[in-house]
Amino acid sequence: MTHPSAVTETPVPALTIRLGVVEENTRAIVDRFDGAIVGVTKGVCGDPRVAGAMRRGGASALADSRLANLQRLDGIDRDHFLIRTPMRSEVDAVVRDTDLSMQSEQSILRTVGAAADRQDTHHRVILAVDSGDRREGVLPDDLPALLATATDFDSITVEGIATHVGSLNGVVPTTESLRRFVEAVERAEDAVGRRLPVLSAGSSNTLSLCFDGTLPERVTQLRIGEGILQGTDPVTGEVLPGLESDAAVLSAEVIECKRKPSAPDGSTGPTPFGETTTAADDGVRSRAILALGRVDVDVEGLTPVRDGIEIVGASSDHTVVDVTAAETPVHPGDRLAFRLSYSALVSSAASRYVNTAYDEREGDS
Ligand SMILES: *Cc1c(COP(=O)(O)O)cnc(C)c1O
Repeated sequence: MTHPSAVTETPVPALTIRLGVVEENTRAIVDRFDGAIVGVTKGVCGDPRVAGAMRRGGASALADSRLANLQRLDGIDRDHFLIRTPMRSEVDAVVRDTDLSMQSEQSILRTVGAAADRQDTHHRVILAVDSGDRREGVLPDDLPALLATATDFDSITVEGIATHVGSLNGVVPTTESLRRFVEAVERAEDAVGRRLPVLSAGSSNTLSLCFDGTLPERVTQLRIGEGILQGTDPVTGEVLPGLESDAAVLSAEVIECKRKPSAPDGSTGPTPFGETTTAADDGVRSRAILALGRVDVDVEGLTPVRDGIEIVGASSDHTVVDVTAAETPVHPGDRLAFRLSYSALVSSAASRYVNTAYDEREGDS
């Protein structure tokens, strides 16, 4: 007989992912784009259940920046797309374990061609062009040469060209910058004398253009992570129309709760994280400590779900919250839940100390 009190709770800290929200956010985006949506799983370390929800929502492929994450998706019948250009040292495994990969280096492309020859297989590639964010990709003028190299190998199929902005310098894609991307692709296509089926744009920062209907027509694919997992536009931080936020929440347990002076007592120097704190003196406050710290999550990216709770600060393994204004008192043993920024989501998903739990309920919309 199971007694209610014997029901085992997920060990905390726990990242609880609402798979229904992931599926519905994917579907909402798929429905608004006349092309293919690639679900990007790196925000949850290639979690196969999340990838499955993206697949059910209509993602045509699953992409991740890390090979190890894509290897977790083995058995999910969608293209597995490595979107970080590979290390030379992993090329053999990339050709073996992925369907397609992003490429930007001639020498690595040759290694890919040779690996595919050796494995007696074909590997599909998408070539990366830098549209101004100055992270990966050849400059537009160098695209024809890269395309020509890739085309030289019978074992390599060039499926298309991709561009990505925003991640290094926060460059925001515009209709105009995407038009220039399309023009660069078309110049390279003219040079090799064929049209490519896939023009892959942006990440979630391109969704507002997609929703406004101002994407150039030749863009046939969007690679989307944050929009699906968070429902947000990374440019504005706002929840996108028709999408739901909070597909994931993080919960942690209170290990101490006491009234303490808010001001430190003693002369202060930098913390172990190299920061000098300037705590305001708000008198005596009710403070709770959570068994959660910077080793588990980017604490800066957490927002308490319950009203009246405020994060004071965190060290490696402790997070201190002010609970003076909490509507109901907080006690040791209680669990507190937090919404996550994208960076908090990624860091907690990657922490070996945070357990992942799944909530199968449908989303609200
Ligand atoms: C991370 C990444 C994406 C997805 O970005 P989101 O902002 O999470 O949608 C797409 N393409 C590339 C190349 C990426 O590195």
